Amino acid sequence: MNRDEIKRVVIIGAGQAGAETAQRLRQGGFSGEIVLIGEESAPPYQRPPLSKKYLSGDLSMERLLLRPASVYAEENVALLTGVRVVWIDRAGKRVRIEGGRELPYDALVLATGARPRKLSLSGADLAGVHLFRTAADVDAIRPSFAPGAKLVVVGAGYIGLEVAAVARQSGLDVCVVETAVRPLARVTSPEVAGFFLDEHTAQGVRFVLGGQPALIKGVDQVTGVRLADGTEIPADIVIAGIGVNPETTLAQHCNLPIGNGIVTDRQCRTADPAIFAIGDCASRPMTHYQDRPCRLESVHNAVEGGRIVAAAILGSAPYVEEAPWFWSDQYDLKLQIAGLFQDYDQIALRGAMSDRAFATFYYKAGRLIAVDAVNRPGEFLGAKMLIQSGRSIPPETIVDVSRPMKELVAAAT
Ligand code: FAD
Repeated sequence: MNRDEIKRVVIIGAGQAGAETAQRLRQGGFSGEIVLIGEESAPPYQRPPLSKKYLSGDLSMERLLLRPASVYAEENVALLTGVRVVWIDRAGKRVRIEGGRELPYDALVLATGARPRKLSLSGADLAGVHLFRTAADVDAIRPSFAPGAKLVVVGAGYIGLEVAAVARQSGLDVCVVETAVRPLARVTSPEVAGFFLDEHTAQGVRFVLGGQPALIKGVDQVTGVRLADGTEIPADIVIAGIGVNPETTLAQHCNLPIGNGIVTDRQCRTADPAIFAIGDCASRPMTHYQDRPCRLESVHNAVEGGRIVAAAILGSAPYVEEAPWFWSDQYDLKLQIAGLFQDYDQIALRGAMSDRAFATFYYKAGRLIAVDAVNRPGEFLGAKMLIQSGRSIPPETIVDVSRPMKELVAAAT
């Protein structure tokens, strides 16, 4: 399929990845039809502030939007909000939306994101028990998110801890229940997790680690969480932050290969050459990690997917991938992450955790693979550049804070 054959692009999912695709296609000179379909009622918006300034009330819905709502019409992008796609006919190259209307495509982009996992417990449907994925979820929480309210957060991942931080700053009484023995178990090292555990504890967050929720208590409204060991934690609000599942329903129904997400090649193309998949719903080989297939849940990954697909559809030079990156804001701590730490065999700490400004560098076989930088933007940027260019700084050198990061990066090999 070459560029001239593509007259209609349909994008399913009007989130970060879908909106980026539409924007990049137009900016790259695509003059055909673009239909961007999203089941949420709002135009595409950013999710990261949901657990930060939107939850605290410091950011309005208008400021959450990725681009002003009027831009889509100006750029001749047909944005259909509050509309769900229910079927893909690969042979006929059409999608069907709820209500039966069908839309043809030459190229189809699946940018369907992920669904938050629900607590599979009795009482999980009580009023006051919430998921945390959409602006509507946060809007439902906010009226009860008041000083003195008792909040139980189930799950100590980044979203759970960000919610806990905002809640403490807003005067709520906060308890975090985590089934693992430490917070952030899936996403960072025990050292960095320990730092965040100490910070939250100092701010007054209580933790139940290794705790197994067994029941959500209440009649109409939640009143508490009972753990498997019989402990009862009173609650006015329960927020589940126990991870997501990639939204692959449509892809499954039309028999596209699914692994941990919809499987694609480096160009984000699925097994069907006319269908791409990007963002939280998809898994693709990561250039900077020996083409290991990865499904990442980050703004960077969603944006990059949109750019890769736009370049593939436009037939322009392939987009050059960056090293993966992510961030998290908790209290006055800005954590910036570059790379994928999972396979590390050595750690090097630059700076002191007690200064609340440090960077943890992760190595595999002596080569730098990732960094967690807390209030250290220079270390984050330096490490990101190194990972991208395949260079490294020996662990024994990186710990020397008397040498500026810039100098170390310049000398890296
Ligand atoms: P989404 O943004 O989820 O968009 C997918 C859209 O597709 C959804 O609106 C969904 O309703 C729609 N959809 C699904 N199926 C259909 C269908 N059949 N028909 C029509 N529409 C459909 N990342 C960071 O890098 N840093 C952060 O600090 C950070 N904080 C976060 C905080 C929160 C609370 C959350 C929830 C996420 C955060 N993330 C963060 C992750 C980041 O926001 C996501 O990785 C990113 O939004 C993924 O974009 P996406 O387009 O793949 O999916």
